[in-house]
Parts: sequence; structure tokens; C-alpha cells
Amino acid sequence: MNNKKYIFLAFIILFFVKVQAQGIKKSEINFFPINHASLIIKSTSITIYVDPVQKNDVYKKYPSPDIILITDIHSDHLNKRVVESIKKGKTKIIAPKAVISKLGFGEILNNGDEIKVFDVIIKAIPMYNITKERLKFHKKGRGNGYVLTINGKRIYISGDTEDIKEMRELKNIEYAFVCMNLPYTMSIEQAASAVLEFIPKIVYPYHYRGPEGYSDIEKFKNLVIREKSTDVRLLNWYK
Ligand code: ZN
Repeated sequence: MNNKKYIFLAFIILFFVKVQAQGIKKSEINFFPINHASLIIKSTSITIYVDPVQKNDVYKKYPSPDIILITDIHSDHLNKRVVESIKKGKTKIIAPKAVISKLGFGEILNNGDEIKVFDVIIKAIPMYNITKERLKFHKKGRGNGYVLTINGKRIYISGDTEDIKEMRELKNIEYAFVCMNLPYTMSIEQAASAVLEFIPKIVYPYHYRGPEGYSDIEKFKNLVIREKSTDVRLLNWYK
């Protein structure tokens, strides 16, 4: 081979290495726990804020949101001033009707609805209490859990709920964020029982602070991993 052919060959190899590297990067999804119910989901092409209620400073080190998802009207999920301060012209705000009524802007997505925003499929899943003494906290229909599909991976965000049938019936979930705090949502035993039924590949306990302190997420982890090979990842939600 002469020199020209070598150079041509080198270009071809470089091209394929680059395409491969982009392929790997494209499927990468990172999660950043902000606090309690608030998190950021970031892929190479999209940044999603879920329930942003912290002071603006917290968000400064992250890219501005392409999508803001809000689950419910309570102050650990919705803060109009924060949403106003972090949204940009491009930002799509998606929330159930009760939240949009309080915000005065954004797009309504109610239980069961599905939309596609910037290549992300967003499906609203119900979230509600089923135990008699807890019915007053979250009435069915008001708030949304979400299933997001990003680059073919399905991510479940429970919102404030108990181990409802709509959670137990979920399929093909790669990452699940599951709440577990009493008296507002559910016990770790309920959460573990639901997780063992829908079997996400990876589960992140979140929203686990209550009036009595933190739920025992280590115990939750043990309840899950002794039965199934689901990976339970404990993140630092309360810094
Ligand atoms: Zn909450």
C-alpha cells in the first residue's frame, strides 16, 4: 500500500471509532439527586428537572432544563418561584392539571396521558394513597407519577404514592425512583413488595424523609435483594 492508501484507511478506522463512541455515549443516562423528591435526569441530548423546589443556587452547576416535570401540588414538589427562576425559553413544563392551575403556565398531562417532548416519551401514571388513614394525603387523579422513555430506556418516577396496582403492573423498567415515607406515602415493606412484583433493573429509593426521620432504606434494600437480583442503589438525597 502507498501512503495515500494508509491515510485513507486511517480515516476510515477513525470514523468507525467515533461512530462507536457516540453510540455508547448516546445511551448514557445520569441521575443527580438534588433533595428528597427533586432530581435531575441528564442524557447526552436532554436535561430533565423533576420537582425542582430548591433555591436557584443548587441548580447553577447543572445545564438549564429542557423539560421540567412536576408531580404534585405540595411544597416538596412544587414551588412556583423556583420554576419561574430556572425555566428558559426552550423549557417545556409538564404537570397535572392541579399543578398547572397553580403555576398559571405549562402543559397539562393527566393520569394515563402520554406525549413526546424532544425525543422523550412521557407517560403520566397515577399516584395515590390506598390505606384508609392516608387517603387524605394524595387523592387519585390529582398528581402524576411518570414513566419516561429516553433512548429506549424506561425510567419510572413514582411521585407520592402507595403500592398501587398501576405501579405493580409496570413492565420493562430500567430505573425506578420509588418513594417510601410514612405517614404520607408507604412503608419500606410496601415499597419492597411492589418492587418485587414489577422488578425494575435498578431501583433508587427517594422521598424517604418523614416527621419521624428517615425510613430504613438499608432494610428496604435487604428485603429486595434477598428475593431478586434487582440492583438497589442508595444515593445521597439529604446532604
Ligand atoms: Zn412529597
